[in-house]
Amino acid sequence: MSQKKSNKFVYAFEEGNRNMKEILGGKGANLAEMKSLGINVPPGFTISTQACKIYNDLGKKITPEMETQIKTNLINLEKKMGKKLGDAKNPLLVSVRSGAAASMPGMMDTILNLGLNDQSVIGLAEKTGNERFAWDSYRRLIQMLGNVVLEIDHDEFEHILESVKESKKAKFDTDLSTEDLKEVVTKYKAMVKKVTKKDFPQDPKVQLDLSIKAVFNSWNNYRAIRYREINNIKGLIGTAVNVQAMVFGNLGEDSGTGVCFTRNPSTGEAKFYGEYLMNAQGEDVVAGIRTPLAVSTLQKSNPKIYKELVAVCNKVEKHYKDMQDMEFTIEKGVLYILQARNGKRTVEAGVKTAVDMVKEKLITKEEAILRIDPNQLNQLLHKQFDQKSLNKAEAIAQGLPASPGAAVGEIVFNASETLSKAEKGLSVILVRTETSPEDIDGMHSAKGILTARGGMTSHAAVVARGMGTCCVAGCPDLIIDEKKKTLTIKSKGLTLKEGDFISLDGSTGKVYAGKIETKEPELSGNFGKLMSWADEYRKIGIRTNADTPKDASTARKFGAEGIGLCRTEHMFFEGPRIKAIREMILSNDIESRKKALAKLLPFQRDDFVGLFHTMEGFPVTVRFLDPPLHEFLPTNEKDIVEISKEMGVSVSVLKNKIEELHEFNPMLGHRGCRLAVTFPEIYEMQTNAVIEAAILVTKKCPICGKKHKVTPEIMIPLVATTKEFSMLRESVIEIVEKKLKEAKIKMAYKVGTMIEVPRATMVADKIVEAGAEFFSFGTNDLTQMGAGISRDDAGKFLKEYVAKGIYENDPFETLDQEGVGELIKIAIKKGRGVKKDLKIGICGEHGGEPKTVEFCHKEGFSYVSCSPFRVPIARLAAAQAAIKNKTKK
Ligand code: ADP
Ligand code: MG
Ligand code: MG
Repeated sequence: MSQKKSNKFVYAFEEGNRNMKEILGGKGANLAEMKSLGINVPPGFTISTQACKIYNDLGKKITPEMETQIKTNLINLEKKMGKKLGDAKNPLLVSVRSGAAASMPGMMDTILNLGLNDQSVIGLAEKTGNERFAWDSYRRLIQMLGNVVLEIDHDEFEHILESVKESKKAKFDTDLSTEDLKEVVTKYKAMVKKVTKKDFPQDPKVQLDLSIKAVFNSWNNYRAIRYREINNIKGLIGTAVNVQAMVFGNLGEDSGTGVCFTRNPSTGEAKFYGEYLMNAQGEDVVAGIRTPLAVSTLQKSNPKIYKELVAVCNKVEKHYKDMQDMEFTIEKGVLYILQARNGKRTVEAGVKTAVDMVKEKLITKEEAILRIDPNQLNQLLHKQFDQKSLNKAEAIAQGLPASPGAAVGEIVFNASETLSKAEKGLSVILVRTETSPEDIDGMHSAKGILTARGGMTSHAAVVARGMGTCCVAGCPDLIIDEKKKTLTIKSKGLTLKEGDFISLDGSTGKVYAGKIETKEPELSGNFGKLMSWADEYRKIGIRTNADTPKDASTARKFGAEGIGLCRTEHMFFEGPRIKAIREMILSNDIESRKKALAKLLPFQRDDFVGLFHTMEGFPVTVRFLDPPLHEFLPTNEKDIVEISKEMGVSVSVLKNKIEELHEFNPMLGHRGCRLAVTFPEIYEMQTNAVIEAAILVTKKCPICGKKHKVTPEIMIPLVATTKEFSMLRESVIEIVEKKLKEAKIKMAYKVGTMIEVPRATMVADKIVEAGAEFFSFGTNDLTQMGAGISRDDAGKFLKEYVAKGIYENDPFETLDQEGVGELIKIAIKKGRGVKKDLKIGICGEHGGEPKTVEFCHKEGFSYVSCSPFRVPIARLAAAQAAIKNKTKK
């Protein structure tokens, strides 16, 4: 049975259906489906994708079996139509159309009117009583087949057509008379002969054979291969070929052709939308030869057809339960449908359509949720350029689309200047060769960030995404001279200076000179509705990674239910804090270290008050100091001199100290809990700051005066051994209990750990026995250490790893479930084996990535935590995971 099936290469439209896309391609499967709905589709047949594969595998050979089946189907088609291909009196004309399972521009173009030759063109003229039409069709065939199959340059044809039009003073193709068109045909044929050294193929069977082969060949042309690569289309075996009886939109003013959408594809408005041309064929509408009319005008000019068209389109939409993009042709007042597919749409339109269709009871909430690609929601959450204004602008440089959004502002080359200008209310774009942690304030106050160096995971990119600030990174064409304050675009020989305006598109990576108008993100009612549905279905909590009240409040606006990661080191870079922390680092004894830390305590406490206030009772996970200390130290001479003065130590002593702190492998060096093992004072100060802030807001919030319920969760980073954790936990608990006792209040606080060192996953049970109340998987480090890939050096080879399929995805973007995921599973099993209700979360960059969210759902995580602007993405992804895994069971 199955063997018999695989020998079937050709399917009449009556034999297919919508579920056969793999074998019939999208176009073929949908034509078949519409046929079965009783819709007026011109008859035809589809040669399968499998035939294409075999053809290409055999080195471009149509097997005898295929040939026989094509022949049989052609004969059936001829019978159905009562016409014969190539018949001199009553010729059958067909179109040859490509179509793979996925929509794929780049493959071969369609050939229309196949079957015409010097004889049948006369037969067609007589039969239709329309000589002009016959010759117009013939010249179109020569042009299409000549271009697409015989690979003659398009210009050769255009040139001839234009010259004839000129000599006849014809403005449009439609102004050409029969005689003019005959002249065009003669000239076309002569040109074909000249270029190919052969006559234009007169035998329709040869025309058909050449066309089918050309479609099969086009599967492997450069454009098609690139398109599949860029769009990550994998696992398809080839394209199908559709051979379909022609219907004619160019038979006069009662004929026409057009495309329409059942709803507006850019806004989603539930209103019929489209364009058409009367007395035109096929691609004329898209080719822009004449300006097409809005389909609404058809209502006046031809109300009967319009009504019919709307009815058919609605029927198809109801059947597919999705917005349709359809092609139609009217032949002498009779309507034919030539294609239907789910219409491509903007995210706005996608969300609106999905929500509307639930209201219309066309689809369920589950289906609506599954229909939206979570990653695309990004586009709804950021400022965007006004399309009209954007159309007028020309990009001056192209970088990586590191953090989406649109930003307009004046160029500034350093962080402090950015901050001071922003404080004056100016819009600023921070432009730097690359950014570093010291730039954090400037980055925060900039409207956008542009860097010449660095990739998608560079400092600028990661931080900007975290803050939801527009960023274009890694723009190699730029030379940035931070001293001279100039920005030069090499290839354009263009130099901009401080104060000049530029516009950045973080969604495309394009940089524009001057100002482009922007529009606010529309968190429309539909978007909110979809999100509320998502919340009904999802099983896991969504938290955010946020270090500032501003980020926290953004995240809450997007629906975050807590902070899963507050990185405390970010709090130490601002003004007086960096001085105090440098003083602490450069201290040689406990006493001076404590003195420096005491200066930091009030700042840190205020930070936590701000966060607790903003989160209004939602849990807040505070990760204690994590990075290697040298990250806080000055690197340039000027700063070193300044600090040496401030601290009253000599420049050389200072330099020695900096030298001393240098590490060969800082990511595996003196950082995380290791800092607290050697300098316990650091975490002691942080514990004090957290608990003092918590007590303050419990009694009376210094910001709003209310009493907040707080659930601080203290997280110890980089734990590898049980002992590290138990030691630091004891110290934390001692301080907290003492403070709570003094304040005479009770508070539900937790102490837990980040699981990010592979060793910790192996001793996860023991860490829980030692008192850990939660785990949060730090998947950035766990990936680095688990796979042994330094994230900062991965740029040199990881792309190739992904291209060669060694890793399916970049493991720093999508969790490597097979390897790192297995470590996580082991840790969960061990941890929950000891404490059944152990809270489990994830706080790496992966936390907002849909595939990873699904993994977390399946593994029973309590929550995922991601940057504020990914919160809606995570909410939707979590709902999708819940729905998919429910229906699977
Ligand atoms: P594409 O995939 O580029 O849209 P199509 O195969 O859909 O290519 O065809 C291109 C144009 O030719 C469309 O406007 C289509 O409606 C028209 N067309 C294709 N086949 C026929 C046919 N049998 N009769 C009339 N028009 C056709
Ligand atoms: Mg086309
Ligand atoms: Mg089409």
